Amino acid sequence: MDQPLIAADPHAEIREEVRKLCARFPGEYWRELDTRRGYPTEFVKALTEAGYLGALIPEEFGGAGLPLSAAAAILETIHQEGCNGAACHAQMYIMGTILKHGSADQKQRYLPGIASGELRLQAFGVTEPTSGTDTTNLRTFARKEGDKYIVNGQKIWTSRAEHSDLMLLLARTTPKDQVTKKTEGLSTFIVDMRTAKGLTIRPIRTMMNHNSCEVFFDNMEVPAENLVGVEGRGFRYILDGMNAERLLIASESIGDAKWFTQKSVAYSKERVLFGRPIGQNQGVQFPIAKAYAQMRAAEAIVKQGLEKFEAGIPCGEEANMGKMLAADAAWAAAEACVQTHGGFGFAEEYDVERKFREARLYQVAPISTNLVLSYIGEHVLGMPRSY
Ligand SMILES: Cc1cc2nc3c(=O)[nH]c(=O)nc-3n(C[C@H](O)[C@H](O)[C@H](O)COP(=O)(O)OP(=O)(O)OC[C@H]3O[C@@H](n4cnc5c(N)ncnc54)[C@H](O)[C@@H]3O)c2cc1C
Repeated sequence: MDQPLIAADPHAEIREEVRKLCARFPGEYWRELDTRRGYPTEFVKALTEAGYLGALIPEEFGGAGLPLSAAAAILETIHQEGCNGAACHAQMYIMGTILKHGSADQKQRYLPGIASGELRLQAFGVTEPTSGTDTTNLRTFARKEGDKYIVNGQKIWTSRAEHSDLMLLLARTTPKDQVTKKTEGLSTFIVDMRTAKGLTIRPIRTMMNHNSCEVFFDNMEVPAENLVGVEGRGFRYILDGMNAERLLIASESIGDAKWFTQKSVAYSKERVLFGRPIGQNQGVQFPIAKAYAQMRAAEAIVKQGLEKFEAGIPCGEEANMGKMLAADAAWAAAEACVQTHGGFGFAEEYDVERKFREARLYQVAPISTNLVLSYIGEHVLGMPRSY
């Protein structure tokens, strides 16, 4: 029998279920939260109860044990339906560091709670105000004293810190001038934010509703048993999780691009001016079509990345390119959507301006476009390191 040219989507059912869940959280819900920078508690609760946030946790720890492509389908659908996964996407993937590098005791202690949603691990403390992208120059220091570490320093852009029980923290444990490679001497810790003393969280108001914060550590004590893996190897552990994060964020951008395009197409057909729908004009049609083509190309690269990831094949090239191409496609679709809607693109009730603000982030975070290009230049094309 002839094989179909295109395999059926293995996650079609998940997409359909996520779509139904998202229908309970329409534009009004997100708009209201946006005005007061509120956290989408009910939305996150619904995703948790449906088991989506524990999708990647193995069944033995109470999760769904699904592959990365299933998590990508969940996040893409959330964004395609006009919702925003940024409030909780990290609950899906930060735990990967514990799963891959944590001790048996840490896995037993944390993963079942994260799978059920009882424990929220969605704060990821890497970026600092002074070092930014230059991660190995971070200044937060964890000094070992007996059976604990004393942490001093500061993080910035720690998203969801106020809505998280635990934080995965990257701190220096050996001064940079005492290590042979600057990537050494950094360690990863699980910080219990519910009980930690000397921890101050300050929300940052941003152009979109993202619940991002500054976090200060003033002699904060972390039990030595909360060190993940081997002291000094933390940078590698964080790098290990980055391909999964990039592929998942790329999927959100693909979802955004699809949302914008659906909106643009629908509006361009219903808005009639000069006796015909505006979508009949090539000047309106072409930017929408071009963004669609960009999205499809990004989607193909992300799919390749997911397939490689699931097969255990290195996928840094696809994860980085997919993240950049998807963010660019979402931005092109966003731009076309505002333009197609004319003045209404700026009116809150159309949700276009909200999604426009939300989509812009992914050209900067979790990795900026320039750094993706540097990765491609150096690691894929073999050119000299540029920084
Ligand atoms: C809303 C939001 C949420 C975030 N959430 C988190 C989080 O939960 N946890 C976390 O740890 N971080 C988080 N981040 C931080 C995010 O990952 C960084 O903002 C991002 O990596 C860029 O770092 P930076 O802001 O320090 O910019 P910088 O590193 O200061 O860079 C500024 C600009 O210079 C460019 N640049 C820098 N170096 C080079 C170079 N060598 N060559 C070419 N261009 C260069 C960059 O591309 C960028 O455009 C978040 C950021 C935002 C805005």
